[in-house]
Amino acid sequence: MAGEITLHRGDITQDAEADAIVNAANQSLLGGGGVDGAIHRAAGPALLEECRGLGGCSTGDAKITGAGELPVDHVIHAVGPRWRGGDRGEAELLASCYRRAIELADEHGCARVAFPAISTGVYGYPLAQAAEVALEATRRALDAHPDVREARFWLFDEHAEQVFARALDAA
Ligand code: ADP
Repeated sequence: MAGEITLHRGDITQDAEADAIVNAANQSLLGGGGVDGAIHRAAGPALLEECRGLGGCSTGDAKITGAGELPVDHVIHAVGPRWRGGDRGEAELLASCYRRAIELADEHGCARVAFPAISTGVYGYPLAQAAEVALEATRRALDAHPDVREARFWLFDEHAEQVFARALDAA
């Protein structure tokens, strides 16, 4: 049976039940604001050191590292698209982030993966559209990777959680 999708509200760095936390990174993989900043602060300097050796990451792709001081085994750094109006391949690139993250989780034996709402902060992806793409891509990837048992979506505020809950109900 395929894994499940669960919704959580708050700070993803507090998730100690996950095996891997997905970061909404930028192409440099050298840290940034938002959830990226929170993950690097919580993980400590070892994570940035490891990221320096990765040579960056393309939009729509993801790379995996250890997790520094975070209470999980791995961080999966996924680079979401910047929103440019919706006709520049944003949906496919966003879907690809979730797919690649779950592929990497499976390859590294991570059964529970925590996700932020990639691209919905500084990158400006409209929340309802991002929720639809994220949940559909995740559902498909969980079907294809049954050893990944749970995708744990962390929504930072009540509004984001409500939007994701509506999209999950509609799916
Ligand atoms: P992006 O550049 O991909 O848009 P951001 O980090 O700016 O990435 O935002 C992605 C989402 O993560 C936003 O919805 C934002 O509210 C949320 N977010 C920010 N900090 C955290 C956190 N500590 N835990 C979970 N979600 C967070």
